[in-house]
Amino acid sequence: MRPARALIDLAALRHNYRLARARHGASALAVIKANAYGHGAVRCARALAAEADGFAVAFLDEALELRAAGITQPILLLEGVFDAVELADAARHDVWLAVHHEAQLRMIETTPLAAPLHAWLKVNSGMNRAGFVGPAVATAWQRLQASGKVRETTLMTHFARADEPQAITTAEQIERFDAATRGLNGARSLANSAAILGWPQACRDWARPGILLYGADPMPGEANGLQAVMTLESAVMAVREIEPGQALGYGGRFVAERRTRVGLVAMGYADGYPRSVPDGTQVAVDGQPSRLIGRVSMDMLTVDLSDLPAAGIGSRIELWGRQVPVNDVAAAAGTIAYELLCNVKRVRLDYR
Ligand code: PLP
Repeated sequence: MRPARALIDLAALRHNYRLARARHGASALAVIKANAYGHGAVRCARALAAEADGFAVAFLDEALELRAAGITQPILLLEGVFDAVELADAARHDVWLAVHHEAQLRMIETTPLAAPLHAWLKVNSGMNRAGFVGPAVATAWQRLQASGKVRETTLMTHFARADEPQAITTAEQIERFDAATRGLNGARSLANSAAILGWPQACRDWARPGILLYGADPMPGEANGLQAVMTLESAVMAVREIEPGQALGYGGRFVAERRTRVGLVAMGYADGYPRSVPDGTQVAVDGQPSRLIGRVSMDMLTVDLSDLPAAGIGSRIELWGRQVPVNDVAAAAGTIAYELLCNVKRVRLDYR
């Protein structure tokens, strides 16, 4: 069997969820959209079902997959619904929905529903991507109440730069949110992972932790006590030596300066390991630190075994996980851990 796999540590997921809730000090919706950031949404939801206050996904199909798997906790749609059929389905399955633009409001006003909704009215407090601004928030809130379709309205916003401790824009967003929602009845939800860890004034009734559940710290460098959930790993399938001056792999990017023992590993960019990482990117070989050399291919990549004489065919390669932080690989690739985790595909997901 091809040794490439993502090993998912569900105890670490539960540990991170508990930490999020304790730091936030109130309820938390576990954000498990995009197949739980690549970790398997149904398995992650089941692992958290006994303790999670609820879940958040992006759109209805993701929520219905969870309902079909027996998840009965609240599920919020962060994108809301796209048409009246989805809206009616969301109401029927008791799925909560973000309401962030005029067309969604109108849909609620005009669509007959089997059950009243729990709406999450989204305030655009400065990210300028989605939501109602300023006085339009109160108008939207009143229209939801007047529609007769809504049993509860929660007020939410989302931060653009909560992962930057120095950015005053987060404080400004909190102020704008508070001003726009003053006097409106309903629970408040502001904090994503970075705000849970860095912005206590954003911790209100509901947090929405995503990336921190998976152990990738949005504020790297701080000792927040998160545990990596996914270990992306494979094994050496062949070993060869190349001489000084010989080039390795596509484009001949890596040229050996000394006799180099090269381990060929069953993992490539088609599995989600990023092609954009440079020579020298960290890997671990049987627990020992080493480095990637040569360009990542579709199905394979190559690592330096020169200083690891005991390593050979079958040696275990950690691409990221407990030993190799996914944040470091993401930085080397010029991206963020979110993208790497979501992109994992074709490899087996094993759970423990
Ligand atoms: N809330 C909203 C509205 C989001 O869009 C997201 C993710 O993109 C989250 C919460 C979770 O964010 P994070 O993974 O940074 O915790």
